[in-house]
Amino acid sequence: MEEMKVESQQPIRKWYTLAATEVIEALQSNSSQGLAQQEAERRLAKQGANKLAESKKKPLYTVFLDQFKDFMVVILFIATLISYFLGEYLDAITIIAIIIINGVLGFIQEARAERSLQALKDLASPMARVMRDGHLSMIPASQLVPGDLVLLEAGDRVPADLRLVSANRLEIEESALTGESLPVSKTARKLEHTNGAQVPLGDQKNLGFMGTMVTGGTGSGIVVETGMNTEIGKIAHLMNTAEEAETPLQVRLEQMGKMLVVVAVLLTIVVIVAGIWHGHELFTMFLAGVSLAVAAIPEGLPAIVTVALALGVQRMIRRNAIVRKLPSVETLGCASVICSDKTGTLTQNKMTVTHVWHSDTMYEVSGRGYEPQGAFHLYGKTVSPARDGALNQILRIADRCNNATLTSEEQSARKLLGMGKTTRTWHVMGDPTEGALKVLAAKGQGTGSERSKNGQSVRVEEYPFDSERKMMSVVEKGTDGTYTLLTKGAAEAILARSTHILWKGELQPLSATLRHQVLDQTEKMAARALRVLAFGYRQLQGYRSGQPHTSMENHLVFVGLVGMIDPPREEVRPAIALCHQAGIKTVMITGDHKVTAEAIARQIGMTRGYGEVLEGRELDNMSDDQLAEYAERVSVYARVSPEHKLRIVRALQSRGHVVAMTGDGVNDAPAIKTSDIGIAMGITGTDVTKEAADLVLRDDNFATIVAAVEEGRNIYDNIRKFIRYLLASNVGEILVMFFAMLLGLPLPLVPIQILWVNLVTDGLPAMALGVDPAERDTMYQKPRNKNENIFSRGLGWKIISRGFLIGAMTLLAFWLTLHENPDDLVHAQTVAFVTLVMAQLIHVFDCRSQYSVFHRNIFENKYLVWAVVSSLVLVLGVVYIDALQPIFKTTDLNFRDWALILVTSGIPTFVAGIGGVLYGGRSKEKKAAPKKKSSSMRTVRP
Ligand code: ATP
Repeated sequence: MEEMKVESQQPIRKWYTLAATEVIEALQSNSSQGLAQQEAERRLAKQGANKLAESKKKPLYTVFLDQFKDFMVVILFIATLISYFLGEYLDAITIIAIIIINGVLGFIQEARAERSLQALKDLASPMARVMRDGHLSMIPASQLVPGDLVLLEAGDRVPADLRLVSANRLEIEESALTGESLPVSKTARKLEHTNGAQVPLGDQKNLGFMGTMVTGGTGSGIVVETGMNTEIGKIAHLMNTAEEAETPLQVRLEQMGKMLVVVAVLLTIVVIVAGIWHGHELFTMFLAGVSLAVAAIPEGLPAIVTVALALGVQRMIRRNAIVRKLPSVETLGCASVICSDKTGTLTQNKMTVTHVWHSDTMYEVSGRGYEPQGAFHLYGKTVSPARDGALNQILRIADRCNNATLTSEEQSARKLLGMGKTTRTWHVMGDPTEGALKVLAAKGQGTGSERSKNGQSVRVEEYPFDSERKMMSVVEKGTDGTYTLLTKGAAEAILARSTHILWKGELQPLSATLRHQVLDQTEKMAARALRVLAFGYRQLQGYRSGQPHTSMENHLVFVGLVGMIDPPREEVRPAIALCHQAGIKTVMITGDHKVTAEAIARQIGMTRGYGEVLEGRELDNMSDDQLAEYAERVSVYARVSPEHKLRIVRALQSRGHVVAMTGDGVNDAPAIKTSDIGIAMGITGTDVTKEAADLVLRDDNFATIVAAVEEGRNIYDNIRKFIRYLLASNVGEILVMFFAMLLGLPLPLVPIQILWVNLVTDGLPAMALGVDPAERDTMYQKPRNKNENIFSRGLGWKIISRGFLIGAMTLLAFWLTLHENPDDLVHAQTVAFVTLVMAQLIHVFDCRSQYSVFHRNIFENKYLVWAVVSSLVLVLGVVYIDALQPIFKTTDLNFRDWALILVTSGIPTFVAGIGGVLYGGRSKEKKAAPKKKSSSMRTVRP
């Protein structure tokens, strides 16, 4: 087997023919400790990252050249070349320079958009649980090397090709590779009887393949192949063809862009023909017309939209929301319902057991958090749990039927604060519910509890928790050779499988009265917002491994209940209030008890009254139509399983809602995919849900969803703002020329001036609008209709009316100046040029508000202020710098000119502003809650 070396360039492909031990030996690894970190780093340097080769990116120079591919730009180039040969050298060179500067700006915008999109991709890269030097840690999957020991559990994507070394009911869905959608049951055993023949991938049951999905069970495996050597790597070139998805808005804008080109070209032709008709020189008119067309076509729009989306997405990341699919940014702003899990999203997921109940006796447990310090109290007195057999049994089950571990680290306050005290902080690795139970067991320890007596018993089987069964069990072999099934779970689930109860020290049949009493107690605890878990056990006569849970989890002896607190997250209540203000319905969907769910829902302001709660089993008895009707009213769904989520999403969608839905487990993926905005938990979520999701919450926090919705609304509003600005400016530019030619006036602007106007007004100010802070009442509006036209809610009218005013006022300034001094055309053109720029630079502030310019502080967006100042400098430069005057056909302006310019350029915005104040309505935020500041008040930074 000498060819089977780690660094072999031609790795052995038939790993399934070897025993796990042989693979471990061949790869010089270790089945419990994994690789040494240093060795792993050495292998990584040698082998390269565990990544699939990406499809080739567009080289930068093509991105740059693409900026000049536009049809009208090509025409302008040609026209400029002709003017060069006609002897207009200065004109030609300047025009070409302006075109190139424009191209560079476009290139920077596009490169920036591309960079931000790449950063997003990197953020979403998968992680792997790996054992190195005997320590378990999460590392980026790209750093895995052959020989690494990887742990798998339900919901994981297999991070590399693995030879399994352990498999506990491990099932993997390999459709990505084999097309077979049914999960394959995996084993760690060597495949027998292969006789050296090639075994099809689907039958290589002791291997896990990169990119496939663990649907059940747990396991571990040694990495045998990474990157392009994996099975998926071999076919990766087939999969690299997927294009970047564009958002619906981008698609619509592209269509609109094409239409605008046609309109601009038609109007240009009219301008050219009218100009020639009125005696202007043919070539001058042609050059002016083409310049006008280039200026009027908003060629930068798609890039600015991408930049606005990408920058918005980065702002979301800063608020802990990672957008996986760009189109969902738009949908986010339309969300009309947010459905959220309870545990960890609405609550802190920091559980503490506060109550233990059995045989009609309620113990209170003191202590906070995960620190295993606290005592048991009965009727106000501290008691020792050692004396109470049933309590001991509860503590034993809590400890043994549990996969969490409690760890602590010492923190020297001397180091931190310069003081002499040492403190210990406690953490839980694993499920917080189980962590709380570990802490409970530890609080009972040292009192002679069952835990120490049973310290030697070993676990021989586990039936993992799943949210369908709502319970978990283990089988333990005691030192005396007997087997016991220990189980915990939802009270109804345990009771339903119990035949006996440990009641006041005696084993009794579970009578209807006692059953009722237990249920009654569960409700009482739940009504105090406690998360309630029940405990049971079963003494097994004999034991055979591999039996299904259905035959094991019955004939249980019920022991008692524990209640734990899981306080709501502080920021959730205001976030929910904000949702209600914003016309967004909030819904809790939880596997927890109805009464607990209702109590928490009331604490966080999700429900106001009663009767808004529906249970999973009630939902089972409803038709889809009935559910759709209920769905409008229900705020809490309790005791539901993941497939209910799918029905809830569909019911809400059938009512026209745009639904955001959270999830963490594997089974949540269908609901997440079906919802309009699928949201996965970044901390507790599985790879599968994250991949199905549009949005991943880095902090698992409900408030983050609301922040993302707010950003989503803001991004859309900003896109509307710069579309409004760019198009109104273009309408203005076209109309000046159009009316001038129709009226038989001289050219109000020369071609270079038109191009300069385009350059200084389109670029920076439009970009700055893309990062404008939200208007104060963004979250006081109803959600936008998903199919809304971008020009609706008055935007189309605003564009036409402001554009018309800008054009008309520029022409007026031009005409008045020319009228006064008919021989000085350059003077009048300079006034028109500056008026047009000023009108646009003033109008840009109007675009920030859907009401009027007076509704917002003009200094709030400092990027915009700087953009406007720099545009002004660029214009004043070409007017006042002597050397530039002949190039731009400008002349100095006097005081009277400036007075005229300021009045005429201010009129479009101020007239519209006064109209807005009088008739345009008022910001809803002021009416609704004058004092409250929404979080959107932050200054937005790109
Ligand atoms: P959410 O769906 O909001 O996250 P949840 O965490 O309560 O709420 P599940 O995880 O599906 O939902 O849990 C449902 C019920 O199963 C819980 O109310 C509890 O009674 C029980 N349960 C939860 N975790 C465990 C566990 N580790 N072992 C046994 N039973 C559990």
